Amino acid sequence: MRKKSESSFAKTELKEKDRFLRVLKLKKVDRPPVVGIIQSATVEMMESLDIYYRDAYRDPEKMATLASASWTELGLEAVGVPFCQTVEVEVFGLEIYWGRKKTDIPTVASFKGCMTPEGIEVPENFLEKGRIPVVLEAIEILKERVGDEIPVIGQIIGPFSLAAHLANMEKILKMSVKKPKLVEEFTMLGLDFLVEYANAMLERGADAILVANMFASVDLLGASGYVRHAQPFDKKLIRRIKGPVILHICGDGTKIVRDMIDTGADCISIDSKTDARYAVEVSRGKAAIMGNIDTIYTLVFGKPRDVIVETKKALETGIDIIAPECSLSPNTPNVNVKAMVQTVKNLSGEW
Ligand SMILES: [Zn+2]
Repeated sequence: MRKKSESSFAKTELKEKDRFLRVLKLKKVDRPPVVGIIQSATVEMMESLDIYYRDAYRDPEKMATLASASWTELGLEAVGVPFCQTVEVEVFGLEIYWGRKKTDIPTVASFKGCMTPEGIEVPENFLEKGRIPVVLEAIEILKERVGDEIPVIGQIIGPFSLAAHLANMEKILKMSVKKPKLVEEFTMLGLDFLVEYANAMLERGADAILVANMFASVDLLGASGYVRHAQPFDKKLIRRIKGPVILHICGDGTKIVRDMIDTGADCISIDSKTDARYAVEVSRGKAAIMGNIDTIYTLVFGKPRDVIVETKKALETGIDIIAPECSLSPNTPNVNVKAMVQTVKNLSGEW
């Protein structure tokens, strides 16, 4: 039986990396790891290091330093790069909006989208294009610096999310009703690219790949839309990634958690709206569950005591890896992240 309460944890204390990788293999551990791998750089961290997103994306050393501060400053037990979901689409020629402030997360500038996938070409030698070389080199540096102790995670976007950027989200939603075949063509377009990028991350030292399929959310596509337009491609992608995979989809994933597990992902990252108890129940023996501390109401606007209450609640449901439900807002106070970390560590008497 998987761990369900404090009393059922194995007694031996493990290194953070071993603990995390054991959980992905559904093996018993002393306590759940506590991580923040989708993005966990905070304004406080950036100010104390004097490294902001834009600097980090230009310099692999800076990217690695900012990423490793999640471990050194906050105590989160994994490090991950990059910090946003725009690296892939930039390689396909979309414009990136860097925001007005140094602490703004890069996003995709408004783009009306392509009507058809014809004419969109996967760039040659794409591993050398845009910010990809910076991300890959940062992974190498992180592996060298902290990789013996802490798992290094490489993040890519999911195939549907890449398609939704290229076609435009609003248009792809309309297409999903009127021209579903076209959605499939858009989604297939970037599949080989994503596989190769993920495997390059593993070759350069990543211990696992996080597939963030933000736009495949039930809130946007509906449960049947996920099954029809996104899940088959998540499955194709995950099958070809040569390492452990964590699949993240935003929004209430209760209705699709079984389908997410069926993709073959080793771990499913769930939102705070997802029924965690149900997710733990249906994933038993098939995948680990990661999540699901609310990133806005609790981690940004809550007090440490609110974080402690919610973290304890998540632990009680039997979640395997405690983590924010999604990307951490840069405005999250460090003290709140530390409260989440400490609540989990207190389980095994680490003060
Ligand atoms: Zn999310």
